[in-house]
Amino acid sequence: MTYHPAEDRYEKMTYRRCGASGLKLPAISLGLWHNFGHDFPHGTKEAICRSAFDNGITHFDLANNYGPPAGSAEEAFGEILRTDFSGFRDELIISSKAGYEMWPGPYGEWGSRKYLIASCDQSLKRLGVDYVDIFYSHRFDPDTPLEETMGALDHIVRSGRALYAGISSYNSQRTREAVAILNDLGTPCLIHQPSYNMLNRWVERDGLKDTLTELGVGSIAFTPLAQGLLTNKYLKGIPEDSRAAQGKSLPANAVSDTVIDSLRALNDIAKARGQTLAQMAIAWVLRDEGITTALIGASRPEQVLDCVGAIDRLDFSPAELEAIDAAISE
Ligand code: NDP
Repeated sequence: MTYHPAEDRYEKMTYRRCGASGLKLPAISLGLWHNFGHDFPHGTKEAICRSAFDNGITHFDLANNYGPPAGSAEEAFGEILRTDFSGFRDELIISSKAGYEMWPGPYGEWGSRKYLIASCDQSLKRLGVDYVDIFYSHRFDPDTPLEETMGALDHIVRSGRALYAGISSYNSQRTREAVAILNDLGTPCLIHQPSYNMLNRWVERDGLKDTLTELGVGSIAFTPLAQGLLTNKYLKGIPEDSRAAQGKSLPANAVSDTVIDSLRALNDIAKARGQTLAQMAIAWVLRDEGITTALIGASRPEQVLDCVGAIDRLDFSPAELEAIDAAISE
């Protein structure tokens, strides 16, 4: 059936400025790491993307290796762009990345100019677009001069393959160096993509979150739900239809009795706030201006809807924040 996006989609979402740039991103973005490979029916992928766009999620995050097999998530989203989202390219922010292993041999991973530019070209083909909005170096490469990796991002932007450059999972010190190089090249770093959630706070310990604010670089927090742990999914153990049950990136032993106790305590705090646990987890990531957008994943459209509800309440009292910390450390 022909898809017509909800007319009121922009009233359902809030948009936050990405660092010091001119670009605004939705407070919630959708990532296609899981559930967009050949192991998932196309109809579900379509339904997830439709419900996202209907609720004002304009930003779709991909990478060369998302699948399985690697590349298939970009192909699936390319198909959705040609069908459902045809005519809406200028309302969408599409990201891709290169850094992890994509093809055999010395040119298929890490941070060389050879790999980044070839991989970006492959991504554009799979997506069926002339350009992506954001192209990332997916991880810091200790063996390639940072000037070369950043030079490749600069070239990708200058050649029109991407509109903006980003980096992912670089620590605070490497981020400072990368941002300085990109500034010198005249292609400012738009955004940093680190992992961040109530259970994983390395960006605070490392100083990265403050560094990004200081440098005027935007930020998109990946796995804000700790791959689904910070939702109502695991309160009674591991359900069959979950990532942990499928032996994917979330190992079953991550769902220990201690973790479940913490999740139950967090769920009580969320209930008292009038939120689901997923909504509170997203609100927590977005609670100050330090993070521009929370990058969620979803295996069904209902999850997207639940997550979007987070934006109704992003503020926390000091007592709530203390209770969350106590629930996690118990
Ligand atoms: P999340 O932490 O948001 O976990 C998503 C999972 O949580 C879903 O697949 C689903 O699990 C569950 N879930 C989501 N919403 C709900 C809900 N409302 N109620 C119950 N369960 C829910 O993020 P991801 O781990 O999926 O990562 C998000 C994105 O971040 C990726 O798609 C990717 O774009 C990016 N990313 C980037 C990385 C990088 O190196 N830059 C690394 C990893 C991710 P289930 O499938 O079990 O139903």
